[in-house]
Amino acid sequence: MTRPGGVWQNWARTERVRPVRVEHPPTVAAVRRSVHAAAARGLRVKAVGAGHSFSGVAVAPDVLLDLSDLTGLVDLDRERGRARLLAGTRLHRIPALLAPAGLAMQNLGDIDRQSISGAISTGTHGTGRRLGGIATQVVAVTLVTADGELLTIDEHQNAELLPAVVVGLGALGIVVDVTLQCVPAFALAAAERPEPLDAVCDAVVARAEEADHFEFFWFPHTDLALTKTLTRLPADAPTRPLGAASRFVDDIVIGNGAHQALCSIGRAMPPLVPAINRLSARVWGDRAFSDLSHRVLATTRGVRFREMEYAIALDDLPRALRAVRRLVEESRWRIEFPIEVRTSAADGLWLSTAHERATGYIAVHRYARADHTAYFAAVEEAMRALGGRPHWGKMHTMDADGLRRVYPRFDDFVALRDRLDPGRAFANPYLTRVLGE
Ligand SMILES: Cc1cc2nc3c(=O)[nH]c(=O)nc-3n(C[C@H](O)[C@H](O)[C@H](O)COP(=O)(O)OP(=O)(O)OC[C@H]3O[C@@H](n4cnc5c(N)ncnc54)[C@H](O)[C@@H]3O)c2cc1C
Repeated sequence: MTRPGGVWQNWARTERVRPVRVEHPPTVAAVRRSVHAAAARGLRVKAVGAGHSFSGVAVAPDVLLDLSDLTGLVDLDRERGRARLLAGTRLHRIPALLAPAGLAMQNLGDIDRQSISGAISTGTHGTGRRLGGIATQVVAVTLVTADGELLTIDEHQNAELLPAVVVGLGALGIVVDVTLQCVPAFALAAAERPEPLDAVCDAVVARAEEADHFEFFWFPHTDLALTKTLTRLPADAPTRPLGAASRFVDDIVIGNGAHQALCSIGRAMPPLVPAINRLSARVWGDRAFSDLSHRVLATTRGVRFREMEYAIALDDLPRALRAVRRLVEESRWRIEFPIEVRTSAADGLWLSTAHERATGYIAVHRYARADHTAYFAAVEEAMRALGGRPHWGKMHTMDADGLRRVYPRFDDFVALRDRLDPGRAFANPYLTRVLGE
């Protein structure tokens, strides 16, 4: 977020920049004027959402377009279950906008602080073997292109561009609105419990196939996996929500406050980390509850951390997990944050991490004040040996040469970028690394 003195930094404090100018366009016309004005001065221009990417994808060295004023519902098509939203709309605002029509988003990630355009642009995803990431819910997009013109992409106009544009990394234009295909509102029953890690790793593919949503967290230096299995229910099914007090204790005190304290202790005294992780694995996540979908899917992440996440073929997940476990066991690291394992359906989006393959995700985290470099580098090497694709919004070191090898449509995306943004009005150093000049 932009602070006094004009410095923008992301949530994880891994990226900082002092843009030449920060603008808050409140309308589509104002976005077009910003793009024109930047071009006239030879400046690059970049929209940012909530700044929740860990990578440098959202860094705007010249003109930073903060779209916090470009939010809300443009149109709700109840019959077709479609909602057209302005680009800066935060995910946590969307449930209330959809509720009057009895609609919901099909799936969400772990948190809901992101903007809809940032989330789709980087391929943000949740978990669910039969479900895709948030970008797969998009049926239409309007872009302001480098010449300041509007480009409508929907089933009637420029339909062939939709799979390229939705996970667009901010490289093709400024998204000004997004139309989501929603689903009838639903509830979720959640079962969270600690289980033996070996058994969970062996059964992860089958467990993911059986459940609507399955994921687990493994605390390094322990033999425990905290599994989370969600079952979709009709919206009017009787539910047993967590009470406000229980939610406060579990998510805020234990999940964030106590974890923050434990991370600080672990940083001061690394040999204590394995014992702390065993304790965390026992006190976290042994509960069953049910509630409306967005209240179950999205959680609060109060402790600042750094994250890297790789997507691999689903069938490789057990092998990949064993590789990461070996790395942790053979090293002297003391990792205070859990490893998160999720899945997704294959999709047809050109730069989606789940492009044309059923996917398993392995995400590694470190406390923001700990040194993540050796751990992330070793895990990254193991994931790349399996043809892994890094999450665009999380830390990684891959460049265009490596990415071209794991994305069959990479060169098509680059060619589209050449067509829509030949002068690189939307470039930044991250895009130059991952897409080329
Ligand atoms: C605590 C935390 C939890 C997270 N959990 C998950 C998770 O569960 N699953 C997951 O997949 N990811 C997760 N992420 C990563 C996060 O979802 C993505 O990085 C996402 O892009 C952040 O959205 P944002 O609005 O903050 O986008 P930003 O980081 O601000 O921007 C991301 C990209 O989108 C572009 N962009 C934004 N708006 C526009 C626009 N209007 N037009 C064109 N381009 C635009 C930016 O230029 C940039 O390239 C998490 C991140 C954090 C910090």
